[in-house]
Amino acid sequence: MEAVCSKKLIKSKSGLRIVVTNDKFRSPFLLCEPQWTPDSESTNCTACKVKFDFVTRRHHCRRCGLIYCGSCCESKMGLPRMCFVDPVRVCNRCAFVTNKESDFFDRQLKTLTSGATFLLDQRLSACPDSVNSLVCKLSQDHRYLVFEGRTADSVSSVELHQVKTLGVARDPDTGTKFF
Ligand SMILES: [Zn+2]
Ligand SMILES: [Zn+2]
Repeated sequence: MEAVCSKKLIKSKSGLRIVVTNDKFRSPFLLCEPQWTPDSESTNCTACKVKFDFVTRRHHCRRCGLIYCGSCCESKMGLPRMCFVDPVRVCNRCAFVTNKESDFFDRQLKTLTSGATFLLDQRLSACPDSVNSLVCKLSQDHRYLVFEGRTADSVSSVELHQVKTLGVARDPDTGTKFF
């Protein structure tokens, strides 16, 4: 199910980005680059309202595209959701959100793509007498939940956007559903 997808390097005014050539293989976790607010539409900083002049210059946040003064847009950080190669300038509000997300991208997403072994609910199994455990993991393009293991033939991949509800399975004996 996991197709090989090629990537290309593109240069936008915000910096270099590595993106997939075919949108079909685009990770659902990615964000589009925002349109930059034109300089002429902003005489004051979006956050602190200081007036721009020759000394107080305009800076665009690469995540929201709005215009800020230097001190309200001073962080440079990695923005994996927009595929930037290098850290880019973001406003303080977007820096806060990006920081919160970085844990998901740095750690949890790797855990999801590595996968884990699950016991399959008997009611979901096509062959109740077989070993009902399989490895569930997120595909490399983050678009599918894929299943591997001896019983995997009876369970097809699930496209992530088709998953409607998620729960946490703590104990197989309780029969808690995990999706
Ligand atoms: Zn400001
Ligand atoms: Zn921003």
